[in-house]
Amino acid sequence: MSDILTTCPYCGVGCGIRASAATEGPEQTLQGDSSHPANFGRLCVKGSALAQTLAVDGRLLQPQVNGEECDWPAAITAVAGGLQQTIAEHGPGAVAMYLSGQLLTEDYYVANKLMKGFIGSAHVDTNSRLCMASTVAGHKRAFGADVVPGCYDDIEQARLFVLVGANMAWNHPILFQRIQAVLQANPDAKLVVIDPRRSASCEAAQLHLKLRPGTDVLLFNGLLSFLAQQGKLDQRFINLHTDGFAEALASAQLQAATVEQVAIGCDLPSDQVLQFYCWFAAEALSLTLFSQGVNQAIDGTDKVNAIINCHLATGRIGKAGCGPFSLTGQPNAMGGREVGGLANQLAAHIDYSNKAQQALVGEFWQAPNLVQQPGYKAVELFDAIERGEIKAVWIMATNPLVSMPQADKVKAALAKCSLVIVSDIYQHTDTLALASIKLPALGWSEKDGTVTNSERRISRQRALCQPPGQAKADWQIICDVARAMGFNYGFDFANAGQIFAEHAALSGYQNNGARAFNISALAELSTEQYQQLRPMQWPVTDSKPRGTTRLFADGKFFTANGRAQFIAVCQRAFNQAAPATPLWLNSGRLRDQWHSMTRTGEVASLMQHTPEPFVTLHPADAALYGINNGELVQLSNASGRLLLRADVSASQRPGELFIPMHWSAQFASQARADVLFAADTDPISGQPALKLSQVALRRF
Ligand code: SF4
Repeated sequence: MSDILTTCPYCGVGCGIRASAATEGPEQTLQGDSSHPANFGRLCVKGSALAQTLAVDGRLLQPQVNGEECDWPAAITAVAGGLQQTIAEHGPGAVAMYLSGQLLTEDYYVANKLMKGFIGSAHVDTNSRLCMASTVAGHKRAFGADVVPGCYDDIEQARLFVLVGANMAWNHPILFQRIQAVLQANPDAKLVVIDPRRSASCEAAQLHLKLRPGTDVLLFNGLLSFLAQQGKLDQRFINLHTDGFAEALASAQLQAATVEQVAIGCDLPSDQVLQFYCWFAAEALSLTLFSQGVNQAIDGTDKVNAIINCHLATGRIGKAGCGPFSLTGQPNAMGGREVGGLANQLAAHIDYSNKAQQALVGEFWQAPNLVQQPGYKAVELFDAIERGEIKAVWIMATNPLVSMPQADKVKAALAKCSLVIVSDIYQHTDTLALASIKLPALGWSEKDGTVTNSERRISRQRALCQPPGQAKADWQIICDVARAMGFNYGFDFANAGQIFAEHAALSGYQNNGARAFNISALAELSTEQYQQLRPMQWPVTDSKPRGTTRLFADGKFFTANGRAQFIAVCQRAFNQAAPATPLWLNSGRLRDQWHSMTRTGEVASLMQHTPEPFVTLHPADAALYGINNGELVQLSNASGRLLLRADVSASQRPGELFIPMHWSAQFASQARADVLFAADTDPISGQPALKLSQVALRRF
């Protein structure tokens, strides 16, 4: 037997893993796959500990309906009957799905097909809304499609790395190691970190801009103004390949005409701002990598476009070693987008704005009830449950009672929802506790399918272990429910490979090149070829059968006229904190944990890094509030309160706090971070602003 190649289930780097065929279960030997182009054999501490998560203790092994264990036919009948009854009484719009970047593309595909094509409800959204929605919107505004232009190999070619709102050292560690290798090998190469707090990534940086939270648009508008003043624009590229430059520059110059204006607004020393601008102006091989600090903001989409504007203005896109680069948070946030996992997309990146394209999806699926309008985005979806408008929700592979803003409000909404169906691999999660129907799903190492990482690379996840108990693949459960609801065609898939082939065929269906997402060259894959599928970057077409490393090299974009669009963006006013909640709160990830800790929380070695939740505060605030390092403190606002251990550190700016996002009620009863974040969203992307809230602090 040969070893099995699969992909890590955690972050969007999408590292390849080689599993020894000679071992299994917790004894499984896993190592980095040296042939995978994301990691070339390396794994971070989370990926290295994956074998320790393979025990079946704590797993949900049997379906349950209303607290009673049952067999699959009874569970499928209960789900199908519950959905049908809800639709009969209240219409298809009373039914919703809330999906996850942990699902495989094949799971996502059939979920969307069932809801958007057959049931006729557009209310399908995903926890990727909390992760990448602002980037999706920013890409679409600038490029006409949701595409990451570059690839990981650009790291080795680049000489200036600009990290914006991204602690790559902890959250995308294998890519960060590649940056560190470039910095070590090239004394002139530089790393600039733009982050309100001093993160682990700053250890390797030549410059850390510890800016006022939420002022990224001002900083990049200032950069655009500076580039224009210094004659560092690529005027030929602007003229030949873009629209809207004059408006974008005028908007930038309104608030950020000088370095001093930017320095005051961003609360930074002007020499640091000038240094960053000079380095960017001088280095054509500049790569700007951004993640949740950009996306999870009330103006996240504008932040994305402010960054892209600077790359368009210098023509630093579509070429080796440069470009704006969105770092995906989850392993399959991209794959979910490809099949329409977001409420404002249909499938194959087709959205609702183009009726002719929309009709193609209905035609391809032979859909009896193709939806015509976008559905509710995540926050709207749970609000609709709270109002009683949505009466049945099916949640898969995610724990919104921990991850959604105003998590207590989400809890109250689900508590009064008539039908809550949850598919999960574990027996106990905060969300599962509110489910009337619990469906045991296959987890990583048991399921088969594909994921897409941050560089558009589709990789296989392959089963290494036998299914535990009665657990089934999500796609199988969805197809079983579809058939039980009377949809007697469209869901007869024998394996994940057949779903992938249909997904690939849809991407090429009457696609003359105007649609960015196209993997039509994979539409005829046999089961054997699907088993052997090697990682490749989309588009994968007859003319590019091995995939596409980099987009826009020809200066052609996916907008109607083929030209990239500058977006005129303005820095939002920065409000003073309210007297009752005078401190600003930021949230983020820790090195050794993943999301709500359902998997990583089971690994003793990972828990050792940071065994309990904490709040980091500046020494000046500790003195002001009479708090000593290690003492218990209370954070509170109108949404809720948390009890945490104080971590006093100058890594924070005075007046600003940081808490990790991971802890659920299962691990610490009063530390669910997202309880304290209001459900404010970016009006364009619908992404919640999970990086900025206002709180009161006191010793407990
Ligand atoms: Fe997994 Fe991300 Fe670590 Fe790679 S960097 S091993 S994908 S968690």
